[in-house]
Order: sequence, then structure tokens, then C-alpha cells
Amino acid sequence: MQSDSVGEYLSANDAVALRSQPLLRSAFIALSQNRLLRRFAERSSIGRRMSGRFVAGMSIDEALAVCERLNREGIAATLDALGESVTTEPEARASADVYHRMLDAIAARGLNANVSLKLSQMGMDFDPDLAEKIVGEMVEHASAVDSFVRIDMEGSPYTEATIAMTERLQTRGDGPGRVGTVLQAYLYRTEGDVERLLRQGIRIRLCKGAYKEPPAIAFPDKPDVDANYIKLAERLMNSGVFCGIATHDEAIVDKLLTFTREHDVPQDAFEFQMLYGIRRDLQRRLIELGFGVRVYVPFGPEWYPYFMRRLAERPANLFFLVKNALKS
Ligand SMILES: Cc1cc2nc3c(=O)[nH]c(=O)nc-3n(C[C@H](O)[C@H](O)[C@H](O)COP(=O)(O)OP(=O)(O)OC[C@H]3O[C@@H](n4cnc5c(N)ncnc54)[C@H](O)[C@@H]3O)c2cc1C
Repeated sequence: MQSDSVGEYLSANDAVALRSQPLLRSAFIALSQNRLLRRFAERSSIGRRMSGRFVAGMSIDEALAVCERLNREGIAATLDALGESVTTEPEARASADVYHRMLDAIAARGLNANVSLKLSQMGMDFDPDLAEKIVGEMVEHASAVDSFVRIDMEGSPYTEATIAMTERLQTRGDGPGRVGTVLQAYLYRTEGDVERLLRQGIRIRLCKGAYKEPPAIAFPDKPDVDANYIKLAERLMNSGVFCGIATHDEAIVDKLLTFTREHDVPQDAFEFQMLYGIRRDLQRRLIELGFGVRVYVPFGPEWYPYFMRRLAERPANLFFLVKNALKS
């Protein structure tokens, strides 16, 4: 059984190492883009074993089994077939094909689940029109099977293009209510983007942001990111547009629970969202309180960049993983 709270396993030496966390965070984010290390890690058995901490297996069937288990616990899911930055149309089409199969499987098994994808996975880096066509087809499919497509937010070079594409897809015949995107509280621009998307009734998932961004465009200090997160989350919860509150930050969750009580926010106005393998205790607590919880379920052989971003958020995870790998 995996632990959600890795802190309790740390020795004094580990704790010293963790005091340099901002440095470690930058190092892990830089390593997440290292192609050589990625190729080595994704092919090694120890790498695959360690990835199991945050990745729900290598195949669609394994991910669907995780969704079934989550659904039995009263938790909804969003499935992410991991993969970023494809460089050819056949690769983009192959990524999309996995999503089409997932949408069909979700419908066939009657799962409480939808899908999350990245535009770089759908050809955005070399042919934005192709990416839009591919995602448009996905939204059409989602509409046909009564599902939903969430476009994840990548680094800031993608921000405007992702928002603009979501807006265009939302206005198409099968778009309304079938497509949404993600906004990151660390970006200064996000407050404006929240209003922009809310005006159009577009569903937003709010997260803090997982990429390394310069202080010219993003709050460099965590307390400022957290304060902005709370402000924007409160705006979303009271907006009348269903939203996803994506965080594992229990202090923030508690503040938002107080906000819902004080402002009579209905429980079905939003859902909490968390990542697979993180803070399952908090997920269970929220379910017991009657709130909706959706878990983001990533899977697939291209797990390395996602996995490294999770280590960047909490470098203590590395100590936990290495200790476990050495034990097994
Ligand atoms: C459903 C979902 C979807 C997301 N989609 C996107 C996206 O599209 N684009 C994007 O940029 N980012 C995305 N993220 C990531 C997000 O931006 C943050 O990087 C991540 O959620 C960590 O921030 P936090 O709000 O949990 O708060 P933090 O302040 O980072 O963490 C608060 C507490 O949560 C726990 N925790 C957080 N991360 C971890 C971890 N990796 N391992 C163990 N414990 C942890 C710890 O207890 C920590 O003290 C998503 C996150 C979620 C939950």
C-alpha cells in the first residue's frame, strides 16, 4: 500500500536536502525535458516500477480498471493517455485514436469518467490546424457518447492558443458543455482569463500550474500563487458555471469549504479534482462530506515528463520512491 504522506519517512538528512526544494523543483523540471534520460527511464523496469506511484499502468485496460475501482469508491475519473510533443501527423492521429477508444470504452462500461488531453500530443507544435481538427473530432465523439473533453494547459507558449481553441470548439454545434480547459493560478493573466471563459460558459479546471515560468508572467512566490488560487477558486465556485477545483492543498481546500458554507455554494456547483496516487485520504474525506471528487488518471508508456513534474512538486517523493525501489 502506498503512503500519501511521504514526510513521515524522511530522515534528518532527507530533511536537509528538502530545504533546498526550490532548487530541486527547477532541477526536476529541467530533467523532465531531458530526452536521453526519458528514453532510458521509460524503457527500464525500475523506471516503470517507480512510475506506478503516479501512473495507472501502461495500457487502456489497466487505466479503465483503476477508473472502475475509483467509481466504486464514489470517485469520478478523467483519463489521460500520457504523451507530449508529437512531431508528425501519424503520431498525432495515433494519440487521438487512443482517446477515441477510451471514449467508446467509457461509454460501453458505463463509467463515470471523461478524458483530458494535451494539444502538443495532437500536433499543435507543427500544425495547429491539424490539432484543432483532431480535437474537434474528439469533442464530436464526446458529445455523441455524452462525455466531455478537457484540454490540459501546458507551458505558457501554449496558453493563448489553448484558450482560443477551446473558445472556438465550444461555439461549434456539438461543443457547448462538451469541452473545457485548465487555467493556472500562477500566471498573472489568469484572473482575466477566468472572466473571459466564464462569459462564454466554458468549464474551467483551476490548478496552481506545473511548469517553470519566468517572474515576468508568473508569481514567483508560492504564497502569492496560493492567495491567487483561493481568490479565483471562490470566483469560480460562485459563477454558476460548473468548475473543477484541482488541488491537493488541504489548507486551501479547508478555506474553500468554509467559503461554500458562508456563501451557500451548492455542492453540485463544482467538483474537487486530484491526481492519481496523491492525497487519497483527502479524496475520501471530501467524498464523505458529500462533495464531488474526480481523480486524474494518467497512463501509458510515455510517463516520464508527467512523472518528473510530480517529483518537482514534492521532491520528498523521490526519497520515498528510491527507498521502496531498493526494498523490492
Ligand atoms: C486534476 C489535476 C489536473 C491538473 N492539470 C494541470 C494542467 O493541466 N496544467 C498544469 O500546469 N498543472 C496541472 N495540474 C498540476 C497543478 O498545477 C499542480 O502542479 C499540482 O496540483 C500541485 O499543486 P497543489 O495545488 O496540489 O499544491 P501544492 O502547494 O503543490 O501542494 C499542496 C500539498 O499537496 C500535496 N502534494 C502536491 N503535489 C504532490 C505530489 N506530486 N506528490 C505528493 N503530494 C503532493 C502535498 O501534501 C502538498 O503539501 C493538475 C493538478 C490536478 C490535481
